[in-house]
Amino acid sequence: MKGRLIDAFGREITSLRFALTSRCNLNCIYCHAEGEERGGGDAAREISADLVVKVAKVASQRFSVRKVKFSGGEPLLRGDLAEIIQRIRAYEDEISLTTNGTLLRERASELADAGLDRVNVSLDTLNPEKYDFITRTKGNLSKVIDGIYAAVDANLTPVKLNMVLLKGINDGEIWEMMDFVRDFNGKNGKDALILQLIELMPFFGIYSSHRSHAYEHLRTRTRSRGGEGVAEEGAEGEGKEAGEKRGGRGAGVKRRMSELIFRK
Ligand code: SF4
Repeated sequence: MKGRLIDAFGREITSLRFALTSRCNLNCIYCHAEGEERGGGDAAREISADLVVKVAKVASQRFSVRKVKFSGGEPLLRGDLAEIIQRIRAYEDEISLTTNGTLLRERASELADAGLDRVNVSLDTLNPEKYDFITRTKGNLSKVIDGIYAAVDANLTPVKLNMVLLKGINDGEIWEMMDFVRDFNGKNGKDALILQLIELMPFFGIYSSHRSHAYEHLRTRTRSRGGEGVAEEGAEGEGKEAGEKRGGRGAGVKRRMSELIFRK
């Protein structure tokens, strides 16, 4: 019989997240770099492929933990990512990763072939200049958009778009992003993309004043558009259906800790 992994709050742990690297090719204004110093990270200090496989195997075989997510930094900077995915595939029901998407166009099909199920892509804006400002890089937005198409082509779906709301910077673009998701799904299949609105965690960085409350935005802006159907805030596990029961027509809001998930 398998054991149960219980956290300090009495919750059963059923999934693992591996931060494969602290390296990243972007430099977002709100990045906390998983507690690492900005400016890079050391590939030599990263968790080895062998250790990832060992932990995933033990968690699956002894504790029924059969969901794994990879994050970073930027996990696609790991050259052995496909190998890791392929080696843990037999132990997992779901393998996903969170990426900034800039390298996805080149690697989506290789990762899908290795056994990756789906991806989350960070995308805060569709405006190239604003994207450059937020990520403190130049000219990467088109690579991310291409990467999203490549991920959908490789069946890494649903592709969840993570939009971090920044007051005064991109919080006026929620509807534009929703239109992008709706149009994309209309052409590429229902639920190819899902938009997730993310609130900045409270912190004392230089951009902390740009923390934005996603739910308040949706409620306010929906009203300004004639109340066309954003649902009431739901508890854990509630979403579109719960929202519709409460009078919404075409959308749902799901609150989960500091994260809001919005589905169209
Ligand atoms: S993409 Fe993620 S890891 Fe990279 S700088 Fe931005 S927030 Fe940090």
